[in-house]
Amino acid sequence: MSKATILLMGMFYQPKLDELEKLYDCHRHWAAPDKDALVASLADRCEIVVTNGGRGISAQEMAQLPKLRLVACFGVGVDAIDLDYARQHGIAVSNTPDVLTDDVADMALALLLGTMRRIPQGDRFVREGRWLAGGMPVTRSLQRKRIGVVGLGRIGRAIASRCEAFNTEVGYFGPNRKSDVSYKYFDDVVAMADWAEVVIAACPGGPSTYRIVSRAALEALGPDGVFINIARGSVVDQEAMIELLAGGGLGAAGLDVFDNEPNVPAELIALDNVVLHPHQGSATHPTRAAMGQLVIDNVAALVEGRELVTRVV
Ligand code: NAP
Repeated sequence: MSKATILLMGMFYQPKLDELEKLYDCHRHWAAPDKDALVASLADRCEIVVTNGGRGISAQEMAQLPKLRLVACFGVGVDAIDLDYARQHGIAVSNTPDVLTDDVADMALALLLGTMRRIPQGDRFVREGRWLAGGMPVTRSLQRKRIGVVGLGRIGRAIASRCEAFNTEVGYFGPNRKSDVSYKYFDDVVAMADWAEVVIAACPGGPSTYRIVSRAALEALGPDGVFINIARGSVVDQEAMIELLAGGGLGAAGLDVFDNEPNVPAELIALDNVVLHPHQGSATHPTRAAMGQLVIDNVAALVEGRELVTRVV
């Protein structure tokens, strides 16, 4: 039997990519000198695309593959995939939930502590020999803070439970109040930001959450407030955030995600009250391997006519 043809639109964890390439007839879109010619040459037989959360796939790209039956995404966030087009054309979409939850939540806490205790700034302080001239200024404390989580899903819950270990009080905002938690619920982000001393974004990206952490929310968080983002750059008004951080209207920010990654605005890089990280929430060996395995398992399920393991659409 001939091997199924897969168009690889987005790079993923190399050892798992190698495994997938041994199993199927795979073609690397990113490496093709003429990408249109590659897609055209596969159009009559390619039923599967593998992509990642950042690269996604547009409606126009899916339309060039009329036999497409599955878009397997390496990553839980599927906001860069045109889900409406997929739904309308009977194309299944899978992602890689759960296996990354703990590492992403750990990263949120690392950014939170790093931002409040100024750990990267302390590292620079030591390396640059400034300690020799006197101690580093004292920092904020995480203890007893009120923390508002935007999106109490798998990752949001894992963040909230970690926050409890730091003697904090947790509140959350999201479309649905949860009956199984005792955290304070807000049906409005600005009201939550007004209550909170820290806001952590952990919701999906895409149109429904675009700029949900608005200028008004950041202003409500205020000059002593801290904003942490491990969700997507699109969920915060990045321009307003930079302006407020620079002008003292917002205290500090720890950011794993940005608009238009990997381009980070020079104005943000220039600020001393931010901790910046290159979208590494899930980037540990065991988690990336488990995510890659889920991609392989979903592809195998489609090829063998079984139910997908982690279907989104
Ligand atoms: P999830 O389990 O589906 O949780 C998403 C949560 O967001 C749900 O609680 C949902 O609320 C809430 N939500 C949906 N629409 C919202 C809105 N308009 N406003 C506020 N909250 C909203 O997903 P997850 O596994 O926790 O992942 C969450 C997101 O984290 C991903 O979509 C991705 O963008 C991001 N992520 C980032 C990294 C990284 O490396 N930085 C890694 C993985 C994931 P309900 O429960 O009420 O429906």
